Amino acid sequence: MEVYKASNLNNLLFYRSKLCGEGTVAMQTNDKQQTILIVDDSPVNIQMLGQLLKGEGQVKVATDGKTALNIAASEDPPDLILLDVMMPEIDGYKICEILKASDSTKDIPIIFVTAMSQQEDEAKGLELGAIDYITKPYNASIVKARVRNHLELKHYRDLLRDASLIDGLTGIPNRRRFDEALKTEWKRAFRDGQPVSVLMADIDYFKRYNDRYGHLEGDECLRKVAECLQKTLKRPGDLAARYGGEEFVGIMPATNADGAFKIAETYREAVKELKIQHDESLISDYVTISIGVATMMPSSEAGAEKLVERADRSLYEAKEAGRNRVSVNVVKGDQKN
Ligand code: GH3
Ligand code: MG
Ligand code: MG
Repeated sequence: MEVYKASNLNNLLFYRSKLCGEGTVAMQTNDKQQTILIVDDSPVNIQMLGQLLKGEGQVKVATDGKTALNIAASEDPPDLILLDVMMPEIDGYKICEILKASDSTKDIPIIFVTAMSQQEDEAKGLELGAIDYITKPYNASIVKARVRNHLELKHYRDLLRDASLIDGLTGIPNRRRFDEALKTEWKRAFRDGQPVSVLMADIDYFKRYNDRYGHLEGDECLRKVAECLQKTLKRPGDLAARYGGEEFVGIMPATNADGAFKIAETYREAVKELKIQHDESLISDYVTISIGVATMMPSSEAGAEKLVERADRSLYEAKEAGRNRVSVNVVKGDQKN
């Protein structure tokens, strides 16, 4: 069975370099060193393991379960966790169970490193979701090799995950990535008491463009309009994505309706300034876009999709009002922030 063809791998690398290159997409897997979190209540053990793994990645340490869980759930989670079993308060098995139960930490591989050497202990650790189990006293070369292997696997898993979140035609994030990011930003906005804005853009008379210039030119046009959105949304936390077809979306965290309107206007203007000839457009000599904007203050952790619905409604209004314009949907009380 052929698993990774070289060409497929090159594609992945290409998409990933796009993803991590210019633009605003913050992903976990840029080319920074991978991190290994060592969790052990004994500083001597930590020091020994840390010394051993110095060349394999950036080492972080935790001497108790609570600290370990906090690091794992942080914005910069480790790529691999080496976990002791016997620890006061929360033991290693429990930590493993908690990490595997949470969506945000379940994909971090865990290796138990422990003096508990009975087969039942190992079976328990693996059943809880650990990827490997190393018993003490350990052989330094074996530990290094296993850590290296698991880090490599993690690297390729991240690569595949990133590629599945990128739109193949334009190289910007796809709808799946947008949905994930919106949920995250919505929750953050709810916590921080901040508004979130979303814009939804649609190319005007794009069917006519395809009919006149052909699908390949149409694709080229989509790439340019996508790149333009990425350049427009340049604040940290902003995200530009292809929603599907000739529709693009943008997330603007901590941005009120006025701010979002201005950004949308900038984008609309920038697309027009691309001066992509469109002889079949009924409103301009060039390709134009219509944009719907919506701004909301989240009133609970759930409900991010309401924002998209509203942006979609605004987009419809922008089309109805004559295209090549921005329409804004503001909910009372939300525009003040
Ligand atoms: P409106 O101004 O109302 O938005 O009209 P429109 O023609 O842009 O909208 P409509 O939804 O009728 O047509 C969208 C077109 O987008 C139809 C389809 O051929 C084209 N399209 C969708 N995805 C792609 C793509 O990946 N490549 C190309 N070249 N065209 C695409
Ligand atoms: Mg259209
Ligand atoms: Mg459309």
